[in-house]
Amino acid sequence: MRAPSEAELLALWERGRTRHPIDRALLLGGFARPDLPSSRLPDLPLGVINTALLGLREASFGPRIEAYLDCERCGERLEFALDSRQLLACTGQGDGRSELEVAGFRFRPPSSRDLAAVAGEHDVETASRKFLDRCRVDGGNTAWTEDADLRAEVEAGLEALDPMADIALELACEACGHRWVAGLDIGALLWEEIEARARALLTEVHRLARAYGWTEPEILALSPERRAIYLEMVDAS
Ligand SMILES: [Zn+2]
Repeated sequence: MRAPSEAELLALWERGRTRHPIDRALLLGGFARPDLPSSRLPDLPLGVINTALLGLREASFGPRIEAYLDCERCGERLEFALDSRQLLACTGQGDGRSELEVAGFRFRPPSSRDLAAVAGEHDVETASRKFLDRCRVDGGNTAWTEDADLRAEVEAGLEALDPMADIALELACEACGHRWVAGLDIGALLWEEIEARARALLTEVHRLARAYGWTEPEILALSPERRAIYLEMVDAS
């Protein structure tokens, strides 16, 4: 996978900044997988999009991911490092089946469109039921989701079908001993990094444009090394 150039990164950031996080993930997924028609992306299994995003993240910023999360019990901040290659290896890609059958119902892996369909739902339980029913081939009636055991079985089955759809991290808080499982939102993480990089780049453009009168394309055409030296000289003068 190819890392975006600085100009491409700025263009991605500009296009994505006012979009919903699900659409941002699809925008970045589309950059990562130019071989797929963009109209198909919303209907692809979430694992396909997440795998593409993890690859784009590695190409852009390297395999090491520095992340942090506040303990859900005591609020202590946990800082941890992940390796995207390890994440891919541990999570796996499923067993190759494209459908799941539970209690006579057939299910397909969830897609971005399914996430978007329940994004406005305030009640977590209702959202989860609607989401699962959307994954049912010929769904459209959530009555079956009344059965909590059946729901749990379908959830576990979907996880096995497309493990990368929801990257789970097992966490333990050193301060209070609490252990829990949190999902890694690779789209949100990558977006934060792209946003930070874009803002840093624009600051560099701003300083050099002001000092030398160069245009944005002229500044971005400089190698990062040359740009750093010019910035040092601007600081020193
Ligand atoms: Zn804690």
